[in-house]
Amino acid sequence: MLKGLLAAASLSLAIGSPALAQPAPPPKAKNVILFLADAGGVSSVSAASLLGYGEPLKLRVQHWPNLGLSDTTPVDQFVSDSANGMSAIMTGVKTRNGVISQSPAAVRGKTDGEPTKTLLEYAEEHGLRTGVVTSQPITDATPAATYAHSNDRGKWGEIFQQAFAPRYGDGVDVLFGTGRAKIGQQLATAGTGFDQIAKAHDRPVYARLEDAPPANARPVVVADQIDTRAATLRALDVLKGSPKGYLLVVEWDAHTDDPREGLQHIVDFDKLIAEVETRVDLKDTLLVFTADHSFGLQVDGGRRGEPLLEGYEAWKATQTPGAKEEDVIRLKNVMVNRSHTGEEVAALAVGPGSERVRGYFPNTHLFDVMMDAWGWKKDGK
Ligand SMILES: [Zn+2]
Repeated sequence: MLKGLLAAASLSLAIGSPALAQPAPPPKAKNVILFLADAGGVSSVSAASLLGYGEPLKLRVQHWPNLGLSDTTPVDQFVSDSANGMSAIMTGVKTRNGVISQSPAAVRGKTDGEPTKTLLEYAEEHGLRTGVVTSQPITDATPAATYAHSNDRGKWGEIFQQAFAPRYGDGVDVLFGTGRAKIGQQLATAGTGFDQIAKAHDRPVYARLEDAPPANARPVVVADQIDTRAATLRALDVLKGSPKGYLLVVEWDAHTDDPREGLQHIVDFDKLIAEVETRVDLKDTLLVFTADHSFGLQVDGGRRGEPLLEGYEAWKATQTPGAKEEDVIRLKNVMVNRSHTGEEVAALAVGPGSERVRGYFPNTHLFDVMMDAWGWKKDGK
């Protein structure tokens, strides 16, 4: 059989033009995992290495072979929020801040734009299994942009219900995140609730990861708090048997409003990524790490052997619930302007198709990279 194929291939080459024989097409991905460090810009990733290891370039992702710089701006401003930033990566279409996977015709909170088809929807359409894991509320802008379409990121009741009313396939298969109290309130306002939704779709909405039985192939967990590492490894266990492959999106918050918390999240995320890397086959699985937008943290002092966050404890002690958010954090070696910032973020990748993550590009390019890794065509193309 194989011999026959090889003979046929060499015959067709011989009939064609041997001198112009095409190189073998690049290997395709079966699976894609997107790791999204929310607000994890270049300077925060760099500082995370210094916090975690006392040295630069110690993070696993900093050893991946392909690196590009991804422009995150929305269509009309210089600085992105998570809604536009993640929508652009997931749909290949830049939009406006506050808008979840709709075209820029959307007016936030007022008028819908066209729904822009997400990578997760393409994956569902192609018969793959899909999963979304986040350290944040499962309806927050970043995870929402994978499975929902809304003119306002604040509409959590509407967004959550869309997970159970998919436009393609049977919708997102694994959904692990937090936000149980606030989502529950918004669902109540909309005249429904977790129990009604679970009953209507014959799909329990568990309050803790541990409550979801291993036999459940499409588990939904909306918790008060979640162990992002455990949730991600669990999602991988559920998805990895998928005959046609899977898409897994993992978000871990990396805002550095509290610099130690935010940077430690990046260190922990990176350790998780290293762990995931040992559980997948990089011959058929594309891994991408990026951020939805950057954040105003800078390392502007310090020396080897000195704690990066010297002065953190004293700063932390001054933080009372009434402290002004807009106050700049001034530690000895680190300054944080507690705001999203407009410069490009790093996109790092390994696995089939990752070689196209090079140079400066708009974040919409990452959508194309992931689509092309599977060999899929966009609708209308
Ligand atoms: Zn964000």
